[in-house]
Amino acid sequence: STSFAVYYQQRKRERQIANFSARPIELRSDEIVKGVAGLIGNTPLVRINSLSDALGVEILGKAEFLNIGGSVKDRVALQMIDDAEKQGLIHPYTGSRIFEGTVGSTGISIATIARARGYDTTIIMPDDVAEEKVKALEALGATVERVRPASIVDKKQYVNLARQRASKFGQPDRITASDPTSKAAHPHIFHTPSNSVLVASAPVHVGFDTDDWSETASLDFSQPRGYFADQFENRSNFDAHYLGTGPEIWRQTSGRVDAFVAGAGTGGTVAGVGQYLKSKNEDILVAIADPEGSGLYNKVKHGVMFDRKEAEGTKRRHQVDTVVEGIGINRMTNNIELALPILDDAFRITDAEAVAMSRYLVKHDGLFLGSSSACNLVACVKLIKQRGWTEDKDVVTILCDSGTRHYSKFWNDEYLRKAKIPIDLQIVEDLLSSP
Ligand code: PMP
Repeated sequence: STSFAVYYQQRKRERQIANFSARPIELRSDEIVKGVAGLIGNTPLVRINSLSDALGVEILGKAEFLNIGGSVKDRVALQMIDDAEKQGLIHPYTGSRIFEGTVGSTGISIATIARARGYDTTIIMPDDVAEEKVKALEALGATVERVRPASIVDKKQYVNLARQRASKFGQPDRITASDPTSKAAHPHIFHTPSNSVLVASAPVHVGFDTDDWSETASLDFSQPRGYFADQFENRSNFDAHYLGTGPEIWRQTSGRVDAFVAGAGTGGTVAGVGQYLKSKNEDILVAIADPEGSGLYNKVKHGVMFDRKEAEGTKRRHQVDTVVEGIGINRMTNNIELALPILDDAFRITDAEAVAMSRYLVKHDGLFLGSSSACNLVACVKLIKQRGWTEDKDVVTILCDSGTRHYSKFWNDEYLRKAKIPIDLQIVEDLLSSP
């Protein structure tokens, strides 16, 4: 085994030299991009050298932390804002304000694009998320409201609050369109006889009540508008990945993909990328990485969101109780619904495994990643081991954000010690050497 260790060290050294020796700088794009939207997407796929070498199977991570807003969520925010503009739901002239309930990344992405497009942003988030996300949001000029974590059935839950705030914002007392026949082709936009434009947040039948709006609702361009982005239910979330991330991965690998692995927060990434890849090759495995306390693992494995035994052991049934931020969920949403039919497998990832992986990757690869990326990579290793793959396979995953978003919790050794989460690299060594 000594000679193996020497051999391994030599290989590692050769690899390091190969990686760092002079070679032409490859630009992400040779075009001049127009503003922040040009700094979203088209991210590189990076080979995770330490894990790939140890396993003989290629593990490739989509470097989403390189997006301008620092995470995979930039793609979603851009798509949601583009689509809302196309539908006439927001417009800079109206002084639109975008509302979202988020644990942080999506808020930062929305605030970034909103600033560039002339919108204001209000972000409602639970008060236990990492402080650096709040700082970034405030620096971007977003209004941040932090609320106690609550169950989704609670009116004061952050997503519910965002919806309520948006529907109340700038809503005129009552506007009636007197000429129903002037309704335009799009159900959200129609013209009054005086030719001012009315825009509603939902399909509106003039003169009839709808669930959310007592009258036909909303405004001309002088009236401020609230728009609830709603990443959990919004189809644009799925589209961002079906139209962007998925095709990019297909192109970058020239279709050489055996499995795609990702965690699910809203489910947009795994649904969009997974569905796209399966449309190209239905043999590609799609699996999720699910942190402790999340119900998706059970949903995939046993068909139920929440296992009773597990529920009893969890303090808050609707709360995903983990140091991992951004993935894990205990309820059905539109985007999870789109993911379920294509999920082949699920892997439960413990906090200790995610923490160990993050430290292992810094030590061996110089990769400083956030908690969901670490979970994804643990799941890649588990999938490869479980399938008995030892060569000639390519597994793709998402590196959602960087460690810089996680200094106060996941990357805070003191916090982990108090939370009784070990920092033990042996956990990864054991996973890699397991049969
Ligand atoms: N990682 C991070 C850091 C996130 O913020 C999110 C989104 N909540 C995800 C992963 C999961 O992505 P999705 O919402 O597409 O499931």
